[in-house]
Amino acid sequence: MDIEPLFYGKHDISSSDVSAVVEVLKSSALTQGPKVSEFERAFSDYVGSKYGVAVSNATAALHLSVLALTPSRPKSFKVITSPITFVSTANCVLFCGGEIEFADIDSSTYCLDPNRVEELLKKNPKDYVGMIPVDYAGHPSRLADFNWLAKKYGLWVISDSCHAPGASFTHEGKIYRAGDGHFADLTTFSFHPVKHIATGEGGIVTTNNEALYKKLLLMRSHGITKESSQMTEYDGGWDYEMQLLGFNYRIPDILCALGLSQLSRAKENLEKRRAVAEAYNLGLKDLPLKLPTVEAGAKHAYHLYVIRTAHRKELYEYLKSKEIHTQVHYIPVHEQPFYIGRYGRQSFPNSEAHYRECLSLPMYPTLSEVQQERVICEVKNFFDKKNG
Ligand SMILES: *Cc1c(COP(=O)(O)O)cnc(C)c1O
Repeated sequence: MDIEPLFYGKHDISSSDVSAVVEVLKSSALTQGPKVSEFERAFSDYVGSKYGVAVSNATAALHLSVLALTPSRPKSFKVITSPITFVSTANCVLFCGGEIEFADIDSSTYCLDPNRVEELLKKNPKDYVGMIPVDYAGHPSRLADFNWLAKKYGLWVISDSCHAPGASFTHEGKIYRAGDGHFADLTTFSFHPVKHIATGEGGIVTTNNEALYKKLLLMRSHGITKESSQMTEYDGGWDYEMQLLGFNYRIPDILCALGLSQLSRAKENLEKRRAVAEAYNLGLKDLPLKLPTVEAGAKHAYHLYVIRTAHRKELYEYLKSKEIHTQVHYIPVHEQPFYIGRYGRQSFPNSEAHYRECLSLPMYPTLSEVQQERVICEVKNFFDKKNG
């Protein structure tokens, strides 16, 4: 009998998602219509920010964020990020003429370690303009620490929270959510289908800073405004002004309608992800594996459920033979040929150890209890066979 293949992530499209899209297809605005700001408002409310600017993908969101925060770009400037992330977290700085400096991850949460960052800042405080911590797998970064460093050294913070809508952490007795704009100047999220909310391609920047918000709106669409109140000179209803060099990073209404519909199930789906994590935590606890660590006061959003084992490659192959298709997150960015070519070989021991051992098990809201059990059983079978 054929067994159903399982993957590390999977989107979920409901019939109401389909009708929401069809409605826009039949409307007069496929793009630049009302669904964009409706989606921005709803997503900002979900994460607790004042503003949101939806764009074509999270790479565009990161690109615009770096540009908006570095208006007068010095001849050379550096930004610090984690090697354990998707390449675009680093690439966005290079897009803007800057350079990336990697700092190692914390060996328990696998997020950028503020202590390693501080070592760099202490050594060459003038070299850096900002930091991009990553909420790896959905575990919130230590944003209060990064915010403290940002104030001390005069830097900005972009939180790459692509994995973490719905994640939160506690600081001095208060709860803060990923993207709420409290400790980061700007926060980016992705709506790629493997992430929490799927629009096909899509992303957003959230912030509490009105000036940055207005700038991002302009930059998303060629630097053009059509608002008479914002023009230097107004000639009539047809008028528009290009005020800075922007891009076409718009997201169509078709996708925002899908995003809105998906967002209506976001809370529920986040709880389902957390239930899958609990089942794995329980089912795998006696095996020789390192399970995800959640810091005290933090709530994980479980974009990924990442285990670590010295037998990663064998386990990957074994699960694959059982139609369980896991993945490795990530190949450290500093080990990509492009980055070796640019900066030479560098070493970040925690990141490299993580890469050698990590494996992302199937994690998505529609993963049934039977399927969860199947994953747990096969991981157990693997270790039973190994121990003969
Ligand atoms: C997915 C992802 C991105 C890029 O998102 P796109 O929408 O595909 O451009 C950036 N950073 C992280 C951490 C991601 O997981």
